[in-house]
Amino acid sequence: MVDFSELPGWLLLALPVIAILSYMVFRRSDSGSGQKSHFSSEYFKGLNYLLNDEQGKALDIFVKLVETDWETIDTHFALGKIFRKNGEIDKAIKIHQGLIARPSLPERHRNRVLLELGYDYLGAGWFDRAEGLFKEVLIHDPRSEKALQNLILIYQQEKDWHKAIDAAENLFSENPRRVGPMISQYYCELADIARAKGDISQGEHYAQQALRYDTASVRATIILADMAMASGDYQKAKTLLQQIEKQDAEFLPMVMDKLVECHHQEDESEALMDYLAQLEQRHVSLPLLESHAKVLERYKGQQAALDYVTEKLKKNPTLDGMNQLLSFNATNGDEDLRMMISGLKSAVDVMKDEQSAFQCKQCGFKTNTLYWLCPSCHNWGSVKPFACEPAC
Ligand SMILES: [Zn+2]
Repeated sequence: MVDFSELPGWLLLALPVIAILSYMVFRRSDSGSGQKSHFSSEYFKGLNYLLNDEQGKALDIFVKLVETDWETIDTHFALGKIFRKNGEIDKAIKIHQGLIARPSLPERHRNRVLLELGYDYLGAGWFDRAEGLFKEVLIHDPRSEKALQNLILIYQQEKDWHKAIDAAENLFSENPRRVGPMISQYYCELADIARAKGDISQGEHYAQQALRYDTASVRATIILADMAMASGDYQKAKTLLQQIEKQDAEFLPMVMDKLVECHHQEDESEALMDYLAQLEQRHVSLPLLESHAKVLERYKGQQAALDYVTEKLKKNPTLDGMNQLLSFNATNGDEDLRMMISGLKSAVDVMKDEQSAFQCKQCGFKTNTLYWLCPSCHNWGSVKPFACEPAC
């Protein structure tokens, strides 16, 4: 049995080429063509060069062979991929440019060569050239998913959200569940830009568009709620923020302070305490407990908050709960007790600081900043509040 982990890296990358070569040789052998012997010997020569890590010499042979049989073009694609993965982008570009320049290149292979060259340019960071090639692919095949997806990546990189939306809309009808949330995030980006410029109505329009493409967009709801709060419409903001529980309850801790503020501005302390108690029935979450305790302290006094946290802590002893309890006790008691509690609280704070506030559900990336586009795996909306201890 071959242990692949012991093979050198370049040979592992060359395995697809070797597999294609073997297939071509055996296919030719079966066909019984008169060129069989010459064809096979040339391929074996190329294979030999490849195994000796002499890709340049191997390529010279494959270039000659592709002219007599364009079905061997897969070896070029596989070699191009090897060069690209090895970081030898210039060599990959040379292969694919060489193919494009051949007048005999059959039309049926043209788009594939353009795509491969586009990947090379992306690898080299030449986005303009890559964009031109992917657009050329679309002229021949307007529904090319690969060309559209790569154009979207380029526009995302360039933060050209309008172009990203245009390209993504071509993929929407085929896969609304995957593409809808992506388009929604682009509209949220536009909404943020409009809001930063002070154009509230445009910001609201974009946020509504975001919700049209993804009704579960927490980001769009937060944008709309923030704008409502900024304009003093706390009822509207409260209604919007309460929708987040149904959209994605994991984001609730992020908006609790805003929800509390909306109730406070509307003088709805009783309704707020009822709402928090109901929320607690549906979700076990420490940030909710923390919010509830702060609200109790604000409206019913410190003892009520202390009783509430102590009761919760008895049922579920946790670091955050302990911290909350200490914060209430830090202002009570004699000097020695306060000093001791203050020291304990500092220690707990240090431990809490070592926890990240957010984590990507796709790749596990941890951060203290909320990114709507994960900087590690580049997924939209996968970074969520870190669910430590009892999860939401
Ligand atoms: Zn990620």
